[in-house]
Amino acid sequence: MTIDIDWAHDSVIADTLALVAEAGVAATWFVTHATPILADIRATPRQELGLHPNFNPLLDGAPGSARDKLLQLRDIVPEAVSVRSHSLVRSSRLSVLFRELGMTHESNYFLPPSAGDDIPPWIDFTGIVQVPIRWEDDVHLLDPTIGEPVAHLGKITPLTVDFHPIHLFLNTTSIAEYEHSRPIAQDPVVLRERRRAPGSGGSRDHFLNLLEAAQQGAASACMRQLRPNQEN
Ligand SMILES: [Zn+2]
Repeated sequence: MTIDIDWAHDSVIADTLALVAEAGVAATWFVTHATPILADIRATPRQELGLHPNFNPLLDGAPGSARDKLLQLRDIVPEAVSVRSHSLVRSSRLSVLFRELGMTHESNYFLPPSAGDDIPPWIDFTGIVQVPIRWEDDVHLLDPTIGEPVAHLGKITPLTVDFHPIHLFLNTTSIAEYEHSRPIAQDPVVLRERRRAPGSGGSRDHFLNLLEAAQQGAASACMRQLRPNQEN
Protein backbone atom coordinates (compact mmCIF):
# COMPACT_ATOMS: atom_id res chain seq x y z
CA MET A 1 0.00 0.00 0.00
CA THR A 2 1.42 3.36 -1.01
CA ILE A 3 -0.14 6.79 -0.59
CA ASP A 4 0.86 10.06 -2.27
CA ILE A 5 -0.30 12.90 -0.02
CA ASP A 6 -0.08 15.56 -2.77
CA TRP A 7 -0.52 18.67 -0.55
CA ALA A 8 -3.89 17.48 0.77
CA HIS A 9 -5.46 19.16 3.81
CA ASP A 10 -4.51 17.46 7.10
CA SER A 11 -8.15 16.47 7.72
CA VAL A 12 -8.20 14.73 4.35
CA ILE A 13 -4.95 12.90 5.15
CA ALA A 14 -6.24 12.04 8.64
CA ASP A 15 -9.25 10.36 7.05
CA THR A 16 -6.95 8.06 5.03
CA LEU A 17 -4.79 7.43 8.10
CA ALA A 18 -7.87 6.32 10.07
CA LEU A 19 -8.80 3.82 7.32
CA VAL A 20 -5.24 2.46 7.16
CA ALA A 21 -4.92 2.24 10.96
CA GLU A 22 -8.27 0.51 11.32
CA ALA A 23 -7.26 -2.11 8.74
CA GLY A 24 -3.84 -2.50 10.37
CA VAL A 25 -2.22 -2.43 6.94
CA ALA A 26 1.40 -1.39 6.37
CA ALA A 27 1.76 1.63 4.07
CA THR A 28 4.40 3.92 2.62
CA TRP A 29 3.33 7.60 2.54
CA PHE A 30 5.06 9.77 -0.05
CA VAL A 31 5.31 13.25 1.47
CA THR A 32 5.05 16.53 -0.43
CA HIS A 33 5.21 19.08 2.40
CA ALA A 34 5.80 19.72 6.11
CA THR A 35 2.57 19.45 8.10
CA PRO A 36 1.50 18.38 11.61
CA ILE A 37 -0.25 15.18 10.44
CA LEU A 38 3.17 13.63 9.66
CA ALA A 39 3.65 13.13 13.41
CA ASP A 40 0.39 11.15 13.57
CA ILE A 41 1.47 8.95 10.66
CA ARG A 42 4.84 8.34 12.33
CA ALA A 43 3.04 7.38 15.55
CA THR A 44 0.88 4.78 13.76
CA PRO A 45 2.32 1.23 13.68
CA ARG A 46 3.66 -0.13 10.36
CA GLN A 47 3.71 3.27 8.56
CA GLU A 48 6.72 4.55 6.61
CA LEU A 49 7.31 8.07 5.31
CA GLY A 50 9.04 8.59 1.96
CA LEU A 51 9.75 11.55 -0.32
CA HIS A 52 7.38 12.82 -3.06
CA PRO A 53 9.40 15.55 -4.80
CA ASN A 54 7.69 17.71 -7.43
CA PHE A 55 10.09 18.25 -10.35
CA ASN A 56 7.37 19.59 -12.66
CA PRO A 57 8.21 23.29 -12.07
CA LEU A 58 11.83 22.56 -13.02
CA LEU A 59 10.65 20.92 -16.24
CA ASP A 60 8.60 24.06 -16.92
CA GLY A 61 11.70 26.25 -16.55
CA ALA A 62 11.41 27.39 -12.93
CA PRO A 63 14.72 28.14 -11.17
CA GLY A 64 16.19 25.59 -8.79
CA SER A 65 17.70 22.13 -8.91
CA ALA A 66 16.50 18.57 -8.36
CA ARG A 67 19.10 18.19 -5.61
CA ASP A 68 17.80 21.23 -3.72
CA LYS A 69 14.20 20.00 -4.00
CA LEU A 70 15.24 16.64 -2.57
CA LEU A 71 17.33 18.16 0.21
CA GLN A 72 14.39 20.36 1.26
CA LEU A 73 12.11 17.32 1.46
CA ARG A 74 14.70 15.23 3.25
CA ASP A 75 14.85 17.93 5.95
CA ILE A 76 11.12 17.26 6.48
CA VAL A 77 11.48 13.45 6.37
CA PRO A 78 15.06 12.73 7.45
CA GLU A 79 14.28 9.03 7.95
CA ALA A 80 13.15 8.53 4.33
CA VAL A 81 14.66 5.69 2.29
CA SER A 82 11.86 5.54 -0.32
CA VAL A 83 11.10 8.03 -3.08
CA ARG A 84 8.40 8.55 -5.70
CA SER A 85 8.28 11.70 -7.84
CA HIS A 86 5.02 13.60 -8.34
CA SER A 87 3.80 12.66 -11.87
CA LEU A 88 6.34 9.79 -11.68
CA VAL A 89 9.08 11.99 -13.14
CA ARG A 90 12.14 9.78 -13.49
CA SER A 91 15.51 9.50 -15.19
CA SER A 92 18.70 7.59 -14.64
CA ARG A 93 20.33 10.82 -13.39
CA LEU A 94 17.57 11.23 -10.83
CA SER A 95 18.03 7.62 -9.69
CA VAL A 96 21.74 8.28 -9.16
CA LEU A 97 20.83 11.37 -7.14
CA PHE A 98 18.23 9.47 -5.09
CA ARG A 99 20.85 6.85 -4.26
CA GLU A 100 23.42 9.51 -3.33
CA LEU A 101 20.94 11.02 -0.89
CA GLY A 102 20.39 7.70 0.86
CA MET A 103 17.31 6.35 -0.89
CA THR A 104 17.19 2.53 -1.16
CA HIS A 105 13.79 2.23 -2.92
CA GLU A 106 12.29 4.13 -5.87
CA SER A 107 8.69 3.73 -7.12
CA ASN A 108 8.43 5.71 -10.34
CA TYR A 109 7.26 3.09 -12.83
CA PHE A 110 3.58 2.45 -13.44
CA LEU A 111 3.21 -1.00 -15.01
CA PRO A 112 -0.49 -1.68 -15.71
CA PRO A 113 -1.96 -5.10 -14.93
CA SER A 114 -1.74 -5.96 -18.65
CA ALA A 115 2.09 -5.88 -18.35
CA GLY A 116 2.01 -9.25 -16.57
CA ASP A 117 1.19 -10.84 -13.23
CA ASP A 118 4.57 -11.59 -11.69
CA ILE A 119 6.87 -8.58 -11.88
CA PRO A 120 9.08 -8.52 -8.80
CA PRO A 121 10.98 -5.38 -7.81
CA TRP A 122 14.46 -5.20 -9.37
CA ILE A 123 17.77 -3.59 -8.47
CA ASP A 124 18.94 -1.22 -11.19
CA PHE A 125 22.46 -0.12 -12.07
CA THR A 126 22.44 2.57 -9.37
CA GLY A 127 21.83 -0.08 -6.70
CA ILE A 128 18.35 1.26 -5.96
CA VAL A 129 15.41 -1.16 -5.67
CA GLN A 130 12.77 -0.27 -8.27
CA VAL A 131 9.26 -1.04 -7.00
CA PRO A 132 6.72 -0.68 -9.82
CA ILE A 133 3.16 0.52 -9.13
CA ARG A 134 0.65 -2.03 -10.49
CA TRP A 135 -2.62 -0.19 -9.78
CA GLU A 136 -3.32 3.50 -9.10
CA ASP A 137 -6.57 5.31 -8.24
CA ASP A 138 -6.13 8.28 -10.58
CA VAL A 139 -5.02 6.04 -13.45
CA HIS A 140 -8.25 4.07 -12.97
CA LEU A 141 -10.19 7.35 -13.45
CA LEU A 142 -8.45 7.78 -16.82
CA ASP A 143 -8.34 4.12 -17.83
CA PRO A 144 -11.03 1.91 -16.24
CA THR A 145 -9.67 -1.11 -18.16
CA ILE A 146 -7.08 -1.56 -15.39
CA GLY A 147 -10.01 -2.94 -13.37
CA GLU A 148 -10.68 -2.99 -9.67
CA PRO A 149 -7.61 -3.48 -7.47
CA VAL A 150 -9.35 -6.27 -5.55
CA ALA A 151 -9.62 -8.22 -8.85
CA HIS A 152 -5.81 -8.40 -8.95
CA LEU A 153 -5.33 -9.52 -5.36
CA GLY A 154 -3.59 -12.89 -5.23
CA LYS A 155 -2.90 -12.73 -9.00
CA ILE A 156 -0.48 -9.84 -9.42
CA THR A 157 2.47 -10.33 -7.09
CA PRO A 158 3.51 -8.14 -5.53
CA LEU A 159 0.43 -5.94 -5.91
CA THR A 160 1.78 -2.46 -5.20
CA VAL A 161 -1.15 -0.03 -5.22
CA ASP A 162 -1.10 3.77 -5.08
CA PHE A 163 -3.92 5.84 -3.58
CA HIS A 164 -4.36 9.59 -2.98
CA PRO A 165 -6.11 10.90 0.19
CA ILE A 166 -8.18 13.40 -1.82
CA HIS A 167 -9.64 10.59 -3.95
CA LEU A 168 -10.37 8.47 -0.87
CA PHE A 169 -12.00 11.46 0.82
CA LEU A 170 -14.21 12.26 -2.20
CA ASN A 171 -14.72 8.63 -3.25
CA THR A 172 -13.85 10.08 -6.67
CA THR A 173 -15.57 8.42 -9.63
CA SER A 174 -14.39 10.74 -12.42
CA ILE A 175 -11.59 13.16 -13.25
CA ALA A 176 -14.22 15.91 -13.63
CA GLU A 177 -15.28 15.49 -9.99
CA TYR A 178 -11.69 15.87 -8.91
CA GLU A 179 -11.12 18.94 -11.10
CA HIS A 180 -14.25 20.58 -9.65
CA SER A 181 -12.96 19.94 -6.15
CA ARG A 182 -9.66 21.76 -6.69
CA PRO A 183 -10.91 25.24 -5.61
CA ILE A 184 -12.20 23.77 -2.32
CA ALA A 185 -9.29 21.37 -1.77
CA GLN A 186 -8.35 23.06 1.51
CA ASP A 187 -11.93 23.15 2.85
CA PRO A 188 -12.62 19.66 4.26
CA VAL A 189 -16.18 20.52 5.39
CA VAL A 190 -17.32 21.42 1.88
CA LEU A 191 -15.24 18.58 0.41
CA ARG A 192 -17.00 16.12 2.72
CA GLU A 193 -20.36 17.18 1.29
CA ARG A 194 -19.10 16.25 -2.17
CA ARG A 195 -18.21 12.67 -1.18
CA ARG A 196 -19.85 10.09 -3.40
CA ALA A 197 -22.07 7.59 -1.58
CA PRO A 198 -20.59 4.19 -0.67
CA GLY A 199 -20.95 1.75 -3.54
CA SER A 200 -20.59 4.44 -6.24
CA GLY A 201 -17.51 2.67 -7.58
CA GLY A 202 -15.14 5.43 -6.52
CA SER A 203 -11.62 5.39 -5.12
CA ARG A 204 -12.78 4.94 -1.51
CA ASP A 205 -14.86 1.93 -2.53
CA HIS A 206 -11.84 0.42 -4.32
CA PHE A 207 -9.70 0.99 -1.25
CA LEU A 208 -12.17 -0.48 1.26
CA ASN A 209 -12.96 -3.49 -0.96
CA LEU A 210 -9.25 -4.19 -1.34
CA LEU A 211 -8.54 -3.95 2.39
CA GLU A 212 -11.51 -6.11 3.28
CA ALA A 213 -10.45 -8.82 0.82
CA ALA A 214 -6.83 -8.63 1.96
CA GLN A 215 -7.91 -9.05 5.58
CA GLN A 216 -10.11 -12.02 4.70
CA GLY A 217 -7.21 -13.56 2.75
CA ALA A 218 -4.86 -13.03 5.68
CA ALA A 219 -7.41 -14.55 8.05
CA SER A 220 -7.91 -17.68 5.93
CA ALA A 221 -4.11 -18.07 5.48
CA CYS A 222 -3.83 -17.86 9.25
CA MET A 223 -6.50 -20.55 9.66
CA ARG A 224 -4.64 -22.82 7.22
CA GLN A 225 -1.50 -22.45 9.33
CA LEU A 226 -3.38 -23.16 12.54
CA ARG A 227 -5.31 -26.19 11.33
CA PRO A 228 -2.46 -28.79 11.30
CA ASN A 229 -1.64 -27.90 14.90
CA GLN A 230 -5.26 -28.23 15.90
CA GLU A 231 -5.45 -31.64 14.25
CA ASN A 232 -2.34 -32.85 16.07
ZN1 LIG B 1 1.76 13.10 -6.60
